[in-house]
Amino acid sequence: VRSEGTLVLAFDIGATWLRAALADGGGRILHRLTVRTARESRALEAQLAGLAQELLDKARALGGRVAAAGVGCIGPLDIREGVILRPPNLPVEHVEVGRVLREVLQGLPVYVLNDCTAACYGEWLLGAGRRVRNLAYVAIGTGIGGGAVVDGHLLLGWRGNAAEVGHLVVDARGRLRCGCGGRGHWEAHCSGMGMPRFLARWVSERGFTERELEVAFGKELARLTVEDIFAAARKGHSIALEFLEEVALLNAAGLASVISAFSPELLIIGGSVALGDYELVVEKALDRLGEFALNQAPLVRPATFGRDAVLMGAAALAIRPPEEFVRRL
Ligand SMILES: [Zn+2]
Repeated sequence: VRSEGTLVLAFDIGATWLRAALADGGGRILHRLTVRTARESRALEAQLAGLAQELLDKARALGGRVAAAGVGCIGPLDIREGVILRPPNLPVEHVEVGRVLREVLQGLPVYVLNDCTAACYGEWLLGAGRRVRNLAYVAIGTGIGGGAVVDGHLLLGWRGNAAEVGHLVVDARGRLRCGCGGRGHWEAHCSGMGMPRFLARWVSERGFTERELEVAFGKELARLTVEDIFAAARKGHSIALEFLEEVALLNAAGLASVISAFSPELLIIGGSVALGDYELVVEKALDRLGEFALNQAPLVRPATFGRDAVLMGAAALAIRPPEEFVRRL
């Protein structure tokens, strides 16, 4: 970890929010900026340049020196060039994150990784995963993503897309199509985006009446959000609770696959859906993990940094860039 006098810039480029921060060498956030993510490539690049300049000015005012920038962002990515390539949930084409930031930072190093890979690294360097050699991270939020550190190395994979765990198959019959185009994926069933569509399919298979559904959820099925589902469950409506048991079973299947693949000693779970109701989402799933025959159950902990998970991951990338990533640049 860099000395406390050195500063870094961190960026979290999400489909809705673009967060940026100035942090010190210990990962403490000194100043932060948040804007709505621009929905056009050049506008997003201009936004990044503007935020970077503002943070550089702030660093100068504080008498500090910025050494590097880290970025955790929506994919798919070309991590060598630091380019976002046509993400499924933002109408941009080719966003040159690395080039734009290197220009503003006058050639200082800029490290761009997938958001969940960055968040995993942040937990490993600065959060609950410190001093652990084998760590898996899963975020259950709008989508589902993950990251893994195995034998002390951050897994990157071809083009940086290792640990895309949201696209693990949890329904081999593939009855639901995922946003990526594939069938039967974990994210299509258990993410904030996927859950309402999974519910619609599930209730149609069970033959509930319109009246029963209206009583449980208070609105028509087509307009339900994930928040409505959890609200109904907290009020004790049996259809919602029964549905969340089904979600828990699939979450258990997904988590068991992650554990089997990466053999972590610690599994950290974050993301807005999981942290929004840790008991209903995570603890229910952990209760059923045993059904998937694990002989090495890791410790499981909620994410350390909450909604700052990606931002802290981005700061961690800049504070101590992962060797396996630097070797590729
Ligand atoms: Zn998918």
